Amino acid sequence: MKNVKKNIGELGLTKQREVVLQVIRNNEEHLTANEVFDKAKQLLPSISFATVYNSLRFLKDAGHIGEIQFGNGASRFDAMTSRHDHAICTKCAKLVDMEIELPPEIVKLAARFSKFKPESIELTLRGLCPECSKN
Ligand SMILES: [Zn+2]
Ligand SMILES: [Zn+2]
Repeated sequence: MKNVKKNIGELGLTKQREVVLQVIRNNEEHLTANEVFDKAKQLLPSISFATVYNSLRFLKDAGHIGEIQFGNGASRFDAMTSRHDHAICTKCAKLVDMEIELPPEIVKLAARFSKFKPESIELTLRGLCPECSKN
């Protein structure tokens, strides 16, 4: 399940959208819209928050980025668009991708319990990241 990514230049995006996508792909940290804006400004000082925000919506709808939300925190944007799970640090909020195959029994169990017809399932591991558990 490897992510096949097209080069940004091949996507036919506007300059602003290219910059936003570049920022997300260059950061593994799953940035919020505000963080994307801060970094996009360094590449394209004239870019506005509204443009960044609209570009994020566009890129998400076009399937170039993913959006994830935990609880009522701000959305974070994800360069990986294939199905994957996340581990989140309860101390520093570091978020990392996990490309693991979930056992099909989990889906069956969840479907039986909820009586839902399952489409997808996500797993979130919470705990201390390696840096935080060292200190
Ligand atoms: Zn941590
Ligand atoms: Zn992710």
